[in-house]
Amino acid sequence: MKIPNNNRRVKLAHLPTPFTLMERLSAELGGPRIWIKRDDLTESAASGNKLRKLEFSIGDALANKATVLITAGGIQSNHCRATAIMAARLGLKCHLILAGKRPDCADGNLLLDQLAGAEFTFASADDFEQLPTVFSDMETRYRDRGEIPYSIPVGASDEVGLWGYIECARELKNDFAENEISPGYVISATGSGGTLAGLVLGNYFFNLNTTMLAFNVAREASWFTEKLEVDIDCWHKRYGDTDSTIPRDKLAFNIIDGYVEPGYARANPCVYETIEKMARTEGLFFDPVYTGKAFHALLQEYKAGRFDDTEDIVFVHTGGIFGLFPQRNQFSPMPLT
Ligand SMILES: *Cc1c(COP(=O)(O)O)cnc(C)c1O
Repeated sequence: MKIPNNNRRVKLAHLPTPFTLMERLSAELGGPRIWIKRDDLTESAASGNKLRKLEFSIGDALANKATVLITAGGIQSNHCRATAIMAARLGLKCHLILAGKRPDCADGNLLLDQLAGAEFTFASADDFEQLPTVFSDMETRYRDRGEIPYSIPVGASDEVGLWGYIECARELKNDFAENEISPGYVISATGSGGTLAGLVLGNYFFNLNTTMLAFNVAREASWFTEKLEVDIDCWHKRYGDTDSTIPRDKLAFNIIDGYVEPGYARANPCVYETIEKMARTEGLFFDPVYTGKAFHALLQEYKAGRFDDTEDIVFVHTGGIFGLFPQRNQFSPMPLT
């Protein structure tokens, strides 16, 4: 099947992102080399994986003449932060529906949301369960004021946003060719599923001949399997060549459960240790919610031999640096002398 095209794209990210070898860590571990796709460098304040997806989600919003972007996430959502910043850049309004109580003081991502001029609604866990209703109520409010609202789902993880990672797979194809490698695994954190769904489709379209593997940082692996099915199905209906189906065995992926504890956006001490170690060995900053947790999991699986059947593996650094600051107390205290 030929890859269809999506012209509803607005250039927001600095692409292609760099692709580099983790030299010291790979030498220290002595097994397959670990490469890193630097999607934490898609921008500065708006950086991370969400910006790739937003090129298409906001592209669609602009095609619909939207004047307000509405989206939702956790208080420290990287996705909400990127949306708020890009709304400001494009002269659009932005309304964020955030799960939880309004904090006394804005930190990390929330501080940037606030500086970028986003409006906030803090939603209870119950309301958050009913997100489609919350979205449509909000849309009505804006329509009544003469605005044109456009809702982007959590994480921009739907058939529109996943284009961002189909395009990332195209970049990976070049990265592999330039470095003359054929990695057995491309590994990422999965939270709302869109990054993985895009990579899985891209793996098929661009013949990367790799296995897309993800560590879930919330929920259970089965939730993601279903979510991917739905997103890929919707993508195929909206954009795909409806005469030909995508063979399901070509869309294989692997979600490894077991590293969520103690829960979403919280992490065990070993994750914070991994974050410190990577900052010191490679000058790379991972976050406690997504990349630090997933990279810690990667190291556990690496040591257990899961990647021994290949010479190279790739970790997609999906960003999230601002999530470090609200969790500052989890790191070793600053020495006094
Ligand atoms: C959202 C996010 C992810 C997960 O991506 P999904 O497409 O939601 O699965 C990973 N890392 C970071 C830093 C994120 O913000």
